[in-house]
Amino acid sequence: MKLYAPSTIRDIKERYGFKLSKSLGQNFLTDKNIIDRIIEGAGIGPEDLVIEIGPGIGVITSEAAETAKKVIAVEIDKNLIPILKETLADRDNVEIVNQDILKTDVNKLIEDCSKGEGDFSGVKIIGNLPYYITTPIIMKLLEDGVKADSITIMMQKEVADRIKAAPGTKAYGALSVAVQYYCTVEAVVNVPKDVFVPQPKVDSTVLKLEIREEKPVELKDREVFFSCVKAGFGQRRKTLLNSLMGVKNITKEAVRESLEAAGIDPSRRAETLDLEEFANLSNEVYSRL
Ligand code: SAM
Repeated sequence: MKLYAPSTIRDIKERYGFKLSKSLGQNFLTDKNIIDRIIEGAGIGPEDLVIEIGPGIGVITSEAAETAKKVIAVEIDKNLIPILKETLADRDNVEIVNQDILKTDVNKLIEDCSKGEGDFSGVKIIGNLPYYITTPIIMKLLEDGVKADSITIMMQKEVADRIKAAPGTKAYGALSVAVQYYCTVEAVVNVPKDVFVPQPKVDSTVLKLEIREEKPVELKDREVFFSCVKAGFGQRRKTLLNSLMGVKNITKEAVRESLEAAGIDPSRRAETLDLEEFANLSNEVYSRL
């Protein structure tokens, strides 16, 4: 049975009385080539543990299980669990977890699995994410310090463009700075909307976020760094001198001094600052709070 064939989805819907949920972002992938590109892009090896977010009916899960040592698939929709048990019946290295990924302690999943199965050579997170919560999922994993090597995920193209954007471009914003602080970002493949059932309104991109072992910049305080980024882009048309007034209870004088000490012209806007400049600036702000 070709799991990814549209006829399989139709058959499953009929046999299980399964109704696709728009609110859970259920757009199922029907293109083997794209599935292969995700698996290859993630660089899954035979001794790896794979955590998949939102397996749906298991099209990516099944392929990942063929290559990886073990796959843990976290799916929120309880109606998909019996379906996954059927579609993945011949994969004895898959564990299905019926949970909301946003409420899942992924590091504990990894730890518990390693205790039971011995060490893995790597941990790869993959998924075709529900579009409505792509950013919260990525930020939760990164802020929680997920102990994985990489996160290779499909998302709305527009979100991918924002994540990989360079300073000075329209798409560059707080999300770009935040993700690029934690990861290097690589585009794996662009995906047209006609390879999904049902078809979404937007095109998609698969990104590989390789989690940095060492951060690219030194921060005196991560919270102040992210406050500066948030304040700067919160009012992106304002100059930094004005927008940074949104950082805690900082005074205008302290903002001016911080910008000067970091060697940044106070008339510049947040969208022109690279990661290093944001780091230097936030370190100066931190010492004046
Ligand atoms: N991987 C499948 C594929 O490519 O065909 C399904 C992808 S579909 C875009 C997103 C999947 O994520 C759905 O199965 C949906 O039920 C699941 N999902 C939505 N929100 C979730 C959450 N908070 N935690 C875990 N899974 C979630």
